[in-house]
Amino acid sequence: MTAKLIEDARKIIIKIGSNTLAGNDGKINAVFLAEFAEQVSALMKKGKQIVVVSSGAQVAGLSTMDKWARKKDIHYRQALCAVGQVELMGAWSRAFEQKGLHIAQILLTREDFNDTNRTLNMRNTLFTLVDEGIIPIINENDTVSVEEIKIGDNDTLAARSAILWSADLLILFSDIDGVYDKNPKEFDNAALIEEVKDINSVRKNIHIGEANSFGTGGIATKLDAAEMALSYGIPVILANGTKPRCLENLAAGNQKGTAFFA
Ligand code: ADP
Repeated sequence: MTAKLIEDARKIIIKIGSNTLAGNDGKINAVFLAEFAEQVSALMKKGKQIVVVSSGAQVAGLSTMDKWARKKDIHYRQALCAVGQVELMGAWSRAFEQKGLHIAQILLTREDFNDTNRTLNMRNTLFTLVDEGIIPIINENDTVSVEEIKIGDNDTLAARSAILWSADLLILFSDIDGVYDKNPKEFDNAALIEEVKDINSVRKNIHIGEANSFGTGGIATKLDAAEMALSYGIPVILANGTKPRCLENLAAGNQKGTAFFA
């Protein structure tokens, strides 16, 4: 099913979680980024349009300002993301440069999505960038988003962006193969659910465990994001981004994931 969804989609938005972007050393994984850019470039050559939603500003910030690791103060955390966002985009830029592709940074807040003028501008900018073959990379604008006004997790940001751009497909890359009946990190016998048509029944029937250390939403927000996108007719794939050549393998039907579709 995942292969068919990718085959049928022209406009694909791909969200990458912090735990996928960071290597075991806690730093941005440049090898992953380069490999990902290569696969995006291959999809574009097949006529697909790609928008990326990238987490990882905090992870990248911590690599640069490691002495801030224990600072919990909100202003330090926002400052950390401001530092890290530059590092993150630098890493993306170097990755896509190798494929001759330019990137663009789009930082959004929850309020941006509630304002008609702003959404119109965001939409037009996205369309222009993509038409010009540039890869927009979206993230939450942490400098202005304090807790109360935050979108809060990039799964929701990705779903909202997918709706805004009128995407044909949303792919959420995490560090697990998809939705399981229980947390695969806690239970060896957890079973992968490969196809979901009724999100509510999945919610009722699975056991949701904890998110990762850098993860913000966990599986619950991924289900909410999938529901939001599906309500606009946009199917969603949740898959493992830490597996080698994940995008290529998903498209070829060689990697399993969870497909949410109507
Ligand atoms: P990301 O940072 O990639 O967005 P999160 O940490 O927010 O990811 O959420 C993914 C994590 O949710 C997985 O690594 C897994 O340990 C946890 N999890 C808890 N319950 C489940 C479940 N039923 N199925 C799959 N993953 C689950």
